[in-house]
Amino acid sequence: MEDRVFNFSAGPSQMPIEVLKKAQDEFLCYPGAGCSVMEMSHRSSAFDEIIDGAEACLRELMDIPSSYAVLFMQGGATTQFSMVPMNLGHFGDTFAYMQTGQFATKAKQEGDRWGNAVFTASSKDANYTYIPEAGDMPEGARFLHITGNNTIYGTSFNKLPEHGNVPLVADWSSAILGREINVKDYDLIYAGAQKNMGPAGLAVVIMKRSLLDFEVDSSVPIMLRYRVAAENRSMYNTPPTFSIYMAKLMFEWVRDRGGVKAMEEKNREKARALYEYIDGSDMYTNPVREKDRSIMNVTFTLPTEEKTAEFLKLCKERGIINIKGHRSVGGCRASIYNGMPMEGVMHLIDTMKEYEEKEK
Ligand code: PMP
Repeated sequence: MEDRVFNFSAGPSQMPIEVLKKAQDEFLCYPGAGCSVMEMSHRSSAFDEIIDGAEACLRELMDIPSSYAVLFMQGGATTQFSMVPMNLGHFGDTFAYMQTGQFATKAKQEGDRWGNAVFTASSKDANYTYIPEAGDMPEGARFLHITGNNTIYGTSFNKLPEHGNVPLVADWSSAILGREINVKDYDLIYAGAQKNMGPAGLAVVIMKRSLLDFEVDSSVPIMLRYRVAAENRSMYNTPPTFSIYMAKLMFEWVRDRGGVKAMEEKNREKARALYEYIDGSDMYTNPVREKDRSIMNVTFTLPTEEKTAEFLKLCKERGIINIKGHRSVGGCRASIYNGMPMEGVMHLIDTMKEYEEKEK
C-alpha cells in the first residue's frame, strides 16, 4: 500500500482504494459462490446477480429510461467505432462526424470503411484546442458522432451540438460517471471502461431500444450486432466476467458517494484548483479555449522541452506518475477522474509550485 503513488494516467487510470480492497476481499471466494468471480460460470445465478446488479446500478446512476438498452461489450471503445456505423446504417450510407481529436478521427476512419463518412466540422487547424460548431448535416446522414470528452486535448462538449433531426451518437469514454450526462439527449452513448468504470477491454453501450429494430446487413459479424447482444443480455458468448464485476463495484462506489452529481461537484473542484493555478502561473500554460475545457483531463505545457523533462523527473520523485502528455501533443496532462482524490490534485499543484519556485 505504501508504494502506491498518485497515478494521473488517462486510462487505465487510478481506481478508488475502496473498490480495489473490496475486490481483494472477494477475490478468492465470492460470497456464496464457493469460487472467485473469474472461475464462475457466466450462466450461474451468482453471475446473473452481478451482471443484472451492474446494469441496475448504472441505470440508477445515469437515470437511464427503460426505452434504452444497456449493453456490456468487448473490444474497448475502439470496437464501437466500427459497430456504430454497421448497426445504424447499411453499407454505403452516409455518416457525420465532428473532428475534435484523434479518437474522433479514428471513429470516422471506421465509418469510412462502411460508408461515406463526412466531417461536418473540425478543430484540427488549432490542434484541437476548442470545440467547433457542428456545421451542416449531410443529406441522409444516419447519425452525427461526437467525442464528448477529448482525452488527449483536454476539451469537452459543454453544450450539445446542433444536429437537427439526425440521431446523435457520443463517445463519452473519458467523462462517463464523472459528470452528468442527460441520456435522453442521445440516441446512443458508448464508453470504454478504463477511466471511470473499471478495467480496460470492456465498453458500455446505452442506446435507444428502437435502434435495435434496424435490419443490419447480413455481412455484419454476429459479435458486432447490438441486437444479438441485447437479446442475449450481453452474453451471446462468454462475456468479460471479471471486468463486469469490477464495473459493478465502481458503479456502487459512485452510488454510495452521492451519485454522479456528487462526483461532478468534486471533479469540478479538482479541475478548478488546477486551472486556477495554471492560469495564474508564469511557468505553465493551458492552450484550451476556456468554455471548452474538460474537467477530466487537464493539459498544460512548460516553456521548453528541457523544463518539461525536469518537471516530469521531479513529479516522479514526488510520487506522481503518468503526467506526461500524449505522444502526439507533448507537454503534460493530468487526468483527474473519479478515482483521483482532491489530495492528489493538491499534491500535484504543490509539486508544480515547487518547480516554478525553483526556476525563479
Ligand atoms: N475514445 C476516447 C475518448 C478515449 O479516450 C479512448 C482511449 N483512451 C478511446 C476512445 C479508445 O478506447 P479503447 O482503447 O478502449 O479502445
